[in-house]
Amino acid sequence: MLKPVIFSLLVIAALAAPQNDYTYDLDAAASCDSTQCVLPDCRCSGTSPPTDIDIEQIPQFVFLTFDDAIQQGNYEIYSSLFDNLTNPDGCPVSATFFMSHDYTDYSKVHDLYVKHHEIALHSITHQALTDYWRDITIEQLNREFGDEKVIITTFANIPPESIQGMRIPYLQLSGDNTFQVGKDLNLTYDCSWPTQTFRKPGLWPYTLDYKSNQDCPIGPCPADSIPGMWVVPMIDWTDQANIVCSMVDACVNIPDNTDDLLQWFIDNFNVQYLGNKAPFGFFVHAAYFNADPIHLEAYIKFVDYLQGLNDVFLVTPSTAIKWIKNPVPIGGGGWPECTQIDDLGCDVKVCQLQKDEEVRYMTLCGECPEVYPWLGNPLGIAEN
Ligand SMILES: [Zn+2]
Repeated sequence: MLKPVIFSLLVIAALAAPQNDYTYDLDAAASCDSTQCVLPDCRCSGTSPPTDIDIEQIPQFVFLTFDDAIQQGNYEIYSSLFDNLTNPDGCPVSATFFMSHDYTDYSKVHDLYVKHHEIALHSITHQALTDYWRDITIEQLNREFGDEKVIITTFANIPPESIQGMRIPYLQLSGDNTFQVGKDLNLTYDCSWPTQTFRKPGLWPYTLDYKSNQDCPIGPCPADSIPGMWVVPMIDWTDQANIVCSMVDACVNIPDNTDDLLQWFIDNFNVQYLGNKAPFGFFVHAAYFNADPIHLEAYIKFVDYLQGLNDVFLVTPSTAIKWIKNPVPIGGGGWPECTQIDDLGCDVKVCQLQKDEEVRYMTLCGECPEVYPWLGNPLGIAEN
């Protein structure tokens, strides 16, 4: 009995070890020359808006994003928050879901997509060690994010081209690798890179054709040219002790009642809105609303407050990038059309699946896979 055990341990060790990594021969990014780097395909990093039209005519984009698994419980909160809301241009209000695979209900992913929200990648394993994400190879990243894309398009039954963005767990970048893999997966943008330095005025989204001047709080940051890949900076908030935070639920010194919490949201929003109108992000995890009832109360009031401002648009990063590529005055000719949804339908099934020694239930659209989908086996095919 010993021999087969040792053999299978060796096989497992070989599978777990980083396989032969392939690297790219990228060119070191040169300083950005704004006469060479021009829209729609290239933009230097910087705090100036993409157009010199009057600031009143520039839209204030707001990104409402949620990280981690999508499940029945948080889906109901999202529906109660956003259903039937529209922006000043008549298009539906959209939030962005950086979703991780484990424990996600894919029928709810489908429903969010149909309700005009953006589904974005946040890895299969959501591995808890930041070293794993910092040192990760291109090949492992492709499995975490490329296989996740296959899982989502298959089991939520949504079009692959609707998936345009990614965020790395713990915002732990891996230098060029993060962005190279995003580009290889035909994504438009990454939204994992915080900035503390470029809060006031705020940093606008830009491409990685040339060297970025963004500060690097959680390195390594990219050093080489990755043409056409957009960085959507996570502009830090400050808490009441003036300490910076990238995810709102990571801010420590915050008010303990609804009205003051709302005012704190508005104060952080105003840093951008009363400044250069760089897109403002409200980045939280799905669990944020469970932590304290005042979070949801203040959030509802904040969304309502934003809805009262006729130059504020609650959109996804990909919609904002569409406008940045072709910046026109609010309501002017060439304003981006509302995103069209391609509803491929969802025949809901609840599947009882094996994940190694565990049993997992997976709710999805279409046919049950044979085993729980995972790294290297996104379609969940049983080994023979
Ligand atoms: Zn996460």
